[in-house]
Amino acid sequence: MSHKYVYMFEEGNANMRELLGGKGANLAEMTNIGLPVPYGFTITTEACTRYYEDGEKIADDIQAEILSYLDKLQAKAGKILGSRENPLLVSVRSGARASMPGMMDTILNLGMNDDVVEVVAEKTNNPRFAYDSYRRFIQMFSDVVMGLPKSTFEVIIDEMKEKKGVKLDTELDAEDMKEMVVRFKAYYKEKMGEDFPQDSKLQLMEAIKAVFRSWNNERAIFYRKMNDIPSSWGTAVNVQMMVFGNMGEDCGTGVAFTRNPATGEKKLFGEFLMNAQGEDVVAGVRTPMTIDQLAETSPKAYAKFVDICDKLENHYKDMQDMEFTVEHGELFMLQTRNGKRTGAAALKIACDMVDEGVITEKEAVLRVEPQQLDSLLHAQFDPAALKKAEVVTRGLAASPGAACGQIVFSAADAIEWKNEGKKVVLVRLETSPEDIEGMHVSEGVLTVRGGMTSHAAVVARGMGACCVSGAGEIVMGDKQFTVNGRTFKEGDWLSIDGSTGCVYGERIPTQPATISGNFERFMNWADENRVLKIRTNADTPKDAAQARAFGAEGIGLVRTEHMFFEAERIKAIREMIVSKTAEQRKAALAKLLPMQRGDFEGIYEAMQGNPVTIRYLDPPLHEFVPKEDKDIAELANEMNMSFEELKGICEGLHEFNPMMGHRGCRLAVTYPEIAEMQTQAVIEAAVNVQRRHPEWNVVAEIMIPLVGEVKELKFVKNIVVKTADEVLAKSDIKVEYHVGTMIEIPRAALLADEIAEEAEFFSFGTNDLTQMTFGFSRDDAGKFLGAYYDAKIYEQDPFAKLDQHGVGQLIKMAAEKGRSVRPNIKLGICGEHGGEPSSIEFCHKVGLTYVSCSPYRVPIARLAAAQAAIKNAK
Ligand code: PEP
Ligand code: MG
Repeated sequence: MSHKYVYMFEEGNANMRELLGGKGANLAEMTNIGLPVPYGFTITTEACTRYYEDGEKIADDIQAEILSYLDKLQAKAGKILGSRENPLLVSVRSGARASMPGMMDTILNLGMNDDVVEVVAEKTNNPRFAYDSYRRFIQMFSDVVMGLPKSTFEVIIDEMKEKKGVKLDTELDAEDMKEMVVRFKAYYKEKMGEDFPQDSKLQLMEAIKAVFRSWNNERAIFYRKMNDIPSSWGTAVNVQMMVFGNMGEDCGTGVAFTRNPATGEKKLFGEFLMNAQGEDVVAGVRTPMTIDQLAETSPKAYAKFVDICDKLENHYKDMQDMEFTVEHGELFMLQTRNGKRTGAAALKIACDMVDEGVITEKEAVLRVEPQQLDSLLHAQFDPAALKKAEVVTRGLAASPGAACGQIVFSAADAIEWKNEGKKVVLVRLETSPEDIEGMHVSEGVLTVRGGMTSHAAVVARGMGACCVSGAGEIVMGDKQFTVNGRTFKEGDWLSIDGSTGCVYGERIPTQPATISGNFERFMNWADENRVLKIRTNADTPKDAAQARAFGAEGIGLVRTEHMFFEAERIKAIREMIVSKTAEQRKAALAKLLPMQRGDFEGIYEAMQGNPVTIRYLDPPLHEFVPKEDKDIAELANEMNMSFEELKGICEGLHEFNPMMGHRGCRLAVTYPEIAEMQTQAVIEAAVNVQRRHPEWNVVAEIMIPLVGEVKELKFVKNIVVKTADEVLAKSDIKVEYHVGTMIEIPRAALLADEIAEEAEFFSFGTNDLTQMTFGFSRDDAGKFLGAYYDAKIYEQDPFAKLDQHGVGQLIKMAAEKGRSVRPNIKLGICGEHGGEPSSIEFCHKVGLTYVSCSPYRVPIARLAAAQAAIKNAK
């Protein structure tokens, strides 16, 4: 038999999401558990892949298969596409493996044409409905298939409403709809140079192609990049018999969640629009009524719906997000999926479902996306300032969090302002999926229209971004808006509270989040399951304390140079750098010693006896050198040098490739005094803290950066050991110390077995390792990586997400080689990847001891490590 590309809903099930997409698989599942789902079939993701392989064409064999399934659908429905007696109308909807809400395209009412519309009008005895459906179809088909923007049609609608003196679409009657169809078709002809297509099979094939194409529209690509969805997956297409929510006042359409997606509260939550079609709800064009009101208007459909919600939640054992339509009082289910939710809701739902006995603690740990914890860790408004602030208007609390920024009115401006280092709040009449990038860079999003399930709300919750939607009192103008007598212009400050829906016309300070209750309980489950230890990268006692509060079990990287940039210190380090003799250098280092020792003591104190890895001076020296003439003159004066002489020395430090220049352990090889001073500071600090806290076990971990050769490590290690032993010999208190290295140069990874002879631990510096393995400058790659994403050469920024395929091999190999020499060698990672969930899973798989990341990512890393352990359990 030839390959099967099309499945009736009855032929699929929930486990077939790779082939049928999420929507298709769940429509199949709902059909099979006996829920009221309109008949339909799914064209597989493989057909989409073939569409692209075949040069953006649907091959003849697949077209034939689609048409044979259309026959089956027609037989079931007892209706025929394009028929003048009994016409079938269908929806054509996208559905990828991973849900990508609103990113791809949908066409409803397909099968409408000049004849069919009249048959429908007559059969339903409802010409308004018939022509409304036809005009919607023209609009969607023109937009999705032909690329004529929907908004141009909206202009025509607005003109007609104005002419009639009405406000709502629902106030337009049958004659108006008829006229609208005429005007829409005329507009189509004017723009496309041909009549609106009347052949319904042609309409169908064109619509399917358009959905395949929409896999590669800009917003879908952006969404995939943000959510790590491979571009190779493709989308499935669902062709389904239409049911109608726009046939009258006993009809309608809605979206609902089995629990509140913003708070997690166990209560049916949703919105419903009478006499409307699905897109009206999601697009947020009209403000809908709540699901509870449906109980009053359609009690039978409501009761049935509540029953189905229970069934679905029990069946999937997770909160469901559903689309449904009521046609003349009869309920139909159009979609169900595990609902997107805020971090707070995800936590509550996971904990509640454990308490309800629905899922296990382990399953609960898998229910929260690590990245989602972010929203719980970030700022809230300062309560005192909030009390005094004046609410200028209210909208819906669509996605929690506190946002404060300057007003911009377009996604493009949001991106531009953000690039200039400004904080912005994006204010829009309503958002559409094209705005996603602008929403991403904004502190928060405020929309005038739209409900809790509008695009803005759904997307913001998914991103963990603060959003207030449906603030209907706002009157938008040109780059300004007015509300309750006040006018706000671009650049004015605005604060919005996504947890209450309040909007404040001023700047309100924010403060860090506190962690308690569900969070702690949940994180304990995570900790019980993880194997990896979690450390933090921290350079100050304050950061170290924050990381401890978030659960860090040690420090994986103290970048000692970060302490040198303060005004007092930079002078001393500059003196050290421009010194001409070892004596001069030692004198300058002597000034730095007490400062470093004090810093290290503070960090040891903050870490309360947990391990602390201190890395020795790493960056190219010229980073510290004065660049302005006035600074050079000042330093020359202090050092008894002439301006010219010092300027000459500074210029002499210039390097063509500083990242591959005089930095890392090369500094200690040329100036051993630096390593001596740093060792003295580390050991003395450890001794002092151990003396103060006999109950702690302070262990000094000294890390030598940028090693590429064992003899180089040995050279620096000898200096460290000699100095450390001298300090300890003079001390009445003993502390343990270890000398290890970073693996961040490919040569070190290749020769890790030799290096392990000297190194007592390895820490993978994947920032440099990525830089040097790709040969991409970590500071410049942003300039060209965009072109690489566009060309699909790389899909992800290798500096953000570990390149497991390439760089990962070096890590794996180095880990194995290291263990072959030193079986219990401690292995960690301290590059940025140590806080990124997919990279953490990789670290778990290759058996590292710990990951180390910035303080705010510590909880994310704890959860990601637990999920990695659960998913990869043997
Ligand atoms: C690294 O290279 O991964 C690293 C942690 O060091 P730095 O970023 O300071 O170069
Ligand atoms: Mg490095």
